[in-house]
Amino acid sequence: MARKRKNTRARDKQARRERVHREQRGSSSQPSEEPPPRGDEPPAPATIAPPVQSAVEAAIDEPVLTPIVGASAENIEVACRYWQWNAYGHGESTLWSEAVNSIATDARSIALTSATLTVPGMACARCDGPLVLSSRAAFDRVYRLANGAEESCAGCDESTQVQLARFAEPKRQARRIEATRAAAVREIEAGFRQAWESARSARISDAYRVELTEDDIPEVDVRTEAVALAMLRYAPGSEVIAPLCEWSTPLSASGDGQSEAVASTVRGGLLRIHPQTSLDTFVWEPTSFDQGLREAEGLHHAVKPPELLNRYRAASATHYSPYGAGLGAAAARLDAHLVARLEPAGMIAPRQGELVATGRRGDHRRGPAILRLRAGPTQPSGRTREPPDPSA
Ligand SMILES: [Zn+2]
Repeated sequence: MARKRKNTRARDKQARRERVHREQRGSSSQPSEEPPPRGDEPPAPATIAPPVQSAVEAAIDEPVLTPIVGASAENIEVACRYWQWNAYGHGESTLWSEAVNSIATDARSIALTSATLTVPGMACARCDGPLVLSSRAAFDRVYRLANGAEESCAGCDESTQVQLARFAEPKRQARRIEATRAAAVREIEAGFRQAWESARSARISDAYRVELTEDDIPEVDVRTEAVALAMLRYAPGSEVIAPLCEWSTPLSASGDGQSEAVASTVRGGLLRIHPQTSLDTFVWEPTSFDQGLREAEGLHHAVKPPELLNRYRAASATHYSPYGAGLGAAAARLDAHLVARLEPAGMIAPRQGELVATGRRGDHRRGPAILRLRAGPTQPSGRTREPPDPSA
């Protein structure tokens, strides 16, 4: 016997959808002769056009899917997917397009209460009414095993009716509605969350862009200049200064006050924050989308847009020197400037005092990186750039 193959699938599917749409529009003129699968359902709408199939195919006509009046489009879609085959034939396993479990929770019950799949020209063995199939197994019995003469319709099949009664229980219905609602909420929330994150990215792009300048480098206090020089020389990489938290060697031995020290170089205008810095490095109000959602009492549309506060976690930020035509040149120019500024012999007396104080503080708290800078010619091993000429 002929076997329907995949190349007929698209045609079958299309034809079935078209029939379903016709039914939904109520434009079919043929009267219905099919009882619904359950007594409490409204009568089925007009039957659909003859199934598309060639004369050489199965002796049993292709089944006809008819939506039940009042069923939602979403549930009718479940019914279409439940009954969608890729291939079937006498003596051969039916190939279904999707596993039942992957379609929906209670997919079979939804399918049976949203549409009828009727075998044309065959009657129920018990009530003699149209043979409305009760399951994929029933489909197999009719089309694979050719046992249609013994098959009961969905309305006469006890186990089907037991399952449909359980499906209709209010508790179970409530659970299903709740699950559907929760899934919809999750989807909506994902959209709002994404928009909120995009807004954060946009704020950072607006506020922090790489801007290079040939302007004079500001002159600031000794300690800030020493920290900036330490960052230029100890950070991995040579163009941008990677976040302190990624360094293999800490800026100071104890790690205390590092963020504050780094932030002082930005406040002093020596370094700037690079836009590749991660969004969470900055402090936002609300602090996160979830925080905003809590404040808005769960109303997604009421979540405040992310506001960028004037604070950041300096140790997690990427920095750069803006003083040159390119990032590498700018780092070199700042390095040279700082070396010259920190040369003790060239310092005016108050700065020499600061230098001593920085050294003392470094001995005690700030650790060796700053101290080594003060000592001068010692070259850190991790450095990749050549030392600039102080006279440059
Ligand atoms: Zn029956």
